[in-house]
Amino acid sequence: MTKDEVAKLIELVASRLAEKSRSTWLPTPSRPEPPGDPTPGMLPAWSGAAQTLPDVAPVRRPVGVSRHRPEYPALVAAARQAAAGRGPAPLPAGSKAGAERASTQRTRREVRIGVSNRHLHVSPRDFETLFGKGKAPMVHRPISQPGQYAAAEVVALSGPKGKLDGVRIVGPARGTTQLEISPADAHLLGVTAPVRQSGKLEHSGGGITLEGPAGKVELVSGVIVAQRHLHVAPADGKTLGVADGDRVAVECGPAGRRVTLHDVLVRLGPDHATELHLDLDEANAAQVATGDAAVIVAASRGAPAGKRRPLLTERDVAQVAARGDTLSAAGPYLMTPAARDRARALGIWRDGT
Ligand SMILES: [Zn+2]
Repeated sequence: MTKDEVAKLIELVASRLAEKSRSTWLPTPSRPEPPGDPTPGMLPAWSGAAQTLPDVAPVRRPVGVSRHRPEYPALVAAARQAAAGRGPAPLPAGSKAGAERASTQRTRREVRIGVSNRHLHVSPRDFETLFGKGKAPMVHRPISQPGQYAAAEVVALSGPKGKLDGVRIVGPARGTTQLEISPADAHLLGVTAPVRQSGKLEHSGGGITLEGPAGKVELVSGVIVAQRHLHVAPADGKTLGVADGDRVAVECGPAGRRVTLHDVLVRLGPDHATELHLDLDEANAAQVATGDAAVIVAASRGAPAGKRRPLLTERDVAQVAARGDTLSAAGPYLMTPAARDRARALGIWRDGT
């Protein structure tokens, strides 16, 4: 190729490119003119700091399923305002200053916290033993859950190591007496209280004496640390993206004490009002109080009711054997093949297969 030919080729390519640019290429970008003085306290519209992330990169996600912290766009906007020197740095919703701003950051997956101090649910029979024949709990004040109330009556608890006075009864009376205490209370009283869902009292703790003005009740079982749980009113299930039996993780607390609590059991039904129930130890650890907000950050689906069967491993089998119990194929659990072999080896497999 001669020099002339190369020059011609370059000219040809250049002219073709120019032709293309007139038809399909994008026009030269132009920057919008900054308007006059921006309104005091407001960022000019052309400033990147005035834009929220979804303006720039809109995302479509199903309602109630958020991959990020729900207050993220509000947080980004606040952080940008702060970076531009137009406001304080955003604070987590749990702190005092953050709480004021919480109204603007309130989102669909935020729930109110209710902190439960130690309390007693009592059977009608035990109530009569404690407070006298023919007596029933009197309403002191209603509590958040529909139909339930803090009763006027209190009892004293005594355990092997200590005593606690003024423990409130929560009414109305129910089938079985159930004492809900915090791990710190259990330590003070000198008893072991397992973490249990309210009402599920198998293998619950005992060793505590209840004392009322008319008599005493010895508790051999029914002493629990309540499993942290989220009551959900049926109307809120969809917005929160949860169903009965789900386990969720929630985030709460001010900067420096912020925590994520896992294994929060969702209890959804007509006699529930939406509220996250934590015991006093959990609340103190996260430095939150009744009325503060928590945010649901993750959820795992519970199995359909009636189909929930735990999986037993070799280690579980060893524990069952240590308790002197037996296992069988008909039991309400699933077993790994190794666990089944172990059960046979330990002689606690009842089917003989
Ligand atoms: Zn509760």
